[in-house]
Amino acid sequence: MIRSMDPWQQIAEHIGRASGVAFHPSRPDSIGGGCINTAVRLSDGRSRWFVKLNRAALLPMFEAEAAGLEEMADTGTIRVPRPLCLGCAGDQAYLVLEYIDFGGSGDSAAAGRQLAAMHRHSAGRFGWRMDNTIGSTPQPNEWSHDWIGFWREHRLGFQLRLAARHGHGGALQRRGERLLQEFPALIDHDPVPSLIHGDLWGGNIGYDRAGNPVIYDPAVYYGDREAEIAMTELFGGPGAAFHTAYDEAWPLDPGYPVRRTLYNLYHILNHLNLFGGGYGGQALGMIDRLLAELGH
Ligand code: ADP
Repeated sequence: MIRSMDPWQQIAEHIGRASGVAFHPSRPDSIGGGCINTAVRLSDGRSRWFVKLNRAALLPMFEAEAAGLEEMADTGTIRVPRPLCLGCAGDQAYLVLEYIDFGGSGDSAAAGRQLAAMHRHSAGRFGWRMDNTIGSTPQPNEWSHDWIGFWREHRLGFQLRLAARHGHGGALQRRGERLLQEFPALIDHDPVPSLIHGDLWGGNIGYDRAGNPVIYDPAVYYGDREAEIAMTELFGGPGAAFHTAYDEAWPLDPGYPVRRTLYNLYHILNHLNLFGGGYGGQALGMIDRLLAELGH
């Protein structure tokens, strides 16, 4: 059993208060697979909870994650772990989520249909009611009616400025600046502000024991849904059945393959800012492909 002075005791008491059922867990089991946080399972034989931990200063990151999970869960379209509570115990921030029993394989066509249904939820403008993080990078979400301006200022421009601060100057900045001026010609469709997960690579989609799709670890905002679909094609995604089902539910507009590069550039720049290394060359290659589309 957990000793009374332990920060875990504080977390267990919070879970008990928030769930309405006294909770006396045994020692936490560590769960691997996360990129940013430490993750554990807490259980007492009657109930189980998934707990993410990080430095106390990062509590706002967990607040935004919890709000994003709730925003998606409230649509009732695709399964999302429900947040229970969060706070600080000693020098640790914690976020407690419903525990999901991931079963392995599942129905990726259902994931496509359900995600399309979630994308039908609109806020009428782009952005979100709070800023959040993408990986551990800040992601500004100031409301805007202008998608192109939003993408220029809060997505590509933000990451390019961060890259400059990290010492990635030269051609990346010069050609990136040109792209910032000219990319509006590539967004030749009229996106609606869809609720999107925002960080939907293969590692953030799973299937529960019943085979239902589950999405988690979001960077939620209202944006062009094509930015979401683009990311599912970037780092190993849910596969062909997912895309067929999504397209049947809500087809993408003509010209998507070019916009896919524009939207995925954001994530590659973010990877450059998080991890450095070869992502700089990859970002430059994408910028050059987009400039070539613009006739350069
Ligand atoms: P990080 O923010 O560090 O990237 P994730 O939210 O991606 O962490 O979670 C890490 C791993 O924990 C996931 O890959 C998944 O396997 C598992 N996981 C995530 N959420 C839950 C949950 N609610 N219940 C059980 N396991 C989960």
